[in-house]
Amino acid sequence: MRRINPSAFRVARRGTSREINRQIALNLVREKQPISRADLARLMGMRPGAVSLLVNELLESRLVFEGAKGDSQGGRRPTHLYIETRRRCAVAVDISASHTSILVTDLLGHPLMEVEEFPTRRRPQALVNELATRIRALLKDHPGFGECIGVGVVVSGMVDLLGSRLMFSPTLGWRDVDLVGPLKAATRLPVVVENSVKACILAQVWAVTGDALVDGPVVFVNVSDGVGVGIAVDGKLVRGANNIAGEFGHVPLSMYGPLCACGQRGCWEAYVSKRAIRARYLGTDASWPASGETEEEPTVKHIVARARAGEARAMETLRETGYYLGRGFSIIVKSIDPRRVYVGGEITLAWDLFESAVRDALREQALVRDPGAMEIRVVPLSEHPRLRGAAALVSTPAFAAPTVA
Ligand SMILES: [Zn+2]
Repeated sequence: MRRINPSAFRVARRGTSREINRQIALNLVREKQPISRADLARLMGMRPGAVSLLVNELLESRLVFEGAKGDSQGGRRPTHLYIETRRRCAVAVDISASHTSILVTDLLGHPLMEVEEFPTRRRPQALVNELATRIRALLKDHPGFGECIGVGVVVSGMVDLLGSRLMFSPTLGWRDVDLVGPLKAATRLPVVVENSVKACILAQVWAVTGDALVDGPVVFVNVSDGVGVGIAVDGKLVRGANNIAGEFGHVPLSMYGPLCACGQRGCWEAYVSKRAIRARYLGTDASWPASGETEEEPTVKHIVARARAGEARAMETLRETGYYLGRGFSIIVKSIDPRRVYVGGEITLAWDLFESAVRDALREQALVRDPGAMEIRVVPLSEHPRLRGAAALVSTPAFAAPTVA
């Protein structure tokens, strides 16, 4: 039960329940499409006439369309409802320390192109200029994508509550950067910026296929150049007072560990990032800033390939990394006790090789019950969870529950 805040509420008006019902209808179309008006009425437990009024409103606001008739049930063929994804698109941008990617999707997050990837420029303004040029060219060259309703940008770092400024990105080395203003000005499109892993969990919460939404806390752990954790509870993103909830990557496992990009020592990130895995394999210091870029060879991909080919050193590197991953996971279990954990990033390439080490570390750190059996779902790199998250920033607000009381 949620307490009504006496300083910010909206009294229920006659129109309120209708607004809620319209959003319920819209979300049912999103989940079940193609769906007939009759089936929608049945699912909502409402009279067909009342549902038709809601559907007409959704048709007028171009959120759904009636299309391609379904199989004949005998007699009149039912017309089916679909989410309006035609001739409208979203641009998704993912900025990480090593590379930046762009993808254009429809309003359900389905890709309309191959992912475009390029090295991340070190100066924010240079990156914004390059992004704007590429986005303009993409939309101009593909008129079939339709009207772009916005650009969703996800970035490795902490973004303020308003989504207007990047407060700090340890791996990019950027502090207090305005990405929204310059990109908006250069593209003349609405721009939303969010922390990449918060966007990843948002995309999982809004996913229509695959994983059914679970009640209670769910988390997304992304392990790549750095480590990020996104948390959602009962379908709602957890931001904290300053939008920095979930910075488990910068919780130290040891006060005397390697120097982290954030300036502290021994952060979880300093033990499991791509840089840390590479240093472990080479026997070099994982401290930041060490010589060499994260993309220098051997990359995590190479190390995984060598482990699969039977190289003992590579295998040992991955098992040790798995152990440190498990130590970090146990901190998440102790603070959030999630129902389900999604894992993304380059480490997913080796998940089968070190999952048992992750679970051993979890068991070792257990308090009251065995978290070694916790539900962990691997989100493969090929699904581009960060870009899906960026697209969700633009496409999901239209489907969100209305704010009442
Ligand atoms: Zn740190």
